[in-house]
Amino acid sequence: MSLFIPSTTQTCPCQINPLSETDSPLSYQECCQPYHNAFYDDEVGGLKAETAERLMRSRYSAFVLIKPDYIVKTTLPAQQALLDVTSVESWAKETDWAGLEIVKHTPKLGKRHAQVEFEAYFNTKDNARDLAEKIQAHHELSTFVKTKDKFSNDARWYFLDPTVAITVTQKQPCICGSGEKFKRCCGGYLG
Ligand code: ZN
Ligand code: ZN
Repeated sequence: MSLFIPSTTQTCPCQINPLSETDSPLSYQECCQPYHNAFYDDEVGGLKAETAERLMRSRYSAFVLIKPDYIVKTTLPAQQALLDVTSVESWAKETDWAGLEIVKHTPKLGKRHAQVEFEAYFNTKDNARDLAEKIQAHHELSTFVKTKDKFSNDARWYFLDPTVAITVTQKQPCICGSGEKFKRCCGGYLG
């Protein structure tokens, strides 16, 4: 499905920051590739992102490398069926990605959440003269939840997508499967 297959020794997309030099950036092989491959080789037992930042980085790289399946599978399972894979894919393809900067990683927020604030850079199509004009940033504060999936007993991080329509009420059990009420759990981070 992917159109662009990077050489594994090439710098990982998530290691590129167009506005400041990254010290000894990791190659794709050393960075996001093992996470991407694990999802395709073994959906259930594959390599898991240890932190929300790690997951966020691998999701950014998956956008750059046009791996919509990875984007879907790393979203909270209850939201996966509601994602529009075609639009995820076309957005990934249409964007001329320029790099990533992690602004802030809050690894623990309450019992099971984490947040990553980042800038995802992309090139604009016009021929602006200097770099600052040409490169634009998509600023986002993403929330992640650590939960067990249906198949395995060990917990992994998932992205909580605030754009997916939620059909549960505040008093119903949370969509992440924590057993808590939605409003006391992921509801606090969604709409
Ligand atoms: Zn990476
Ligand atoms: Zn929850």
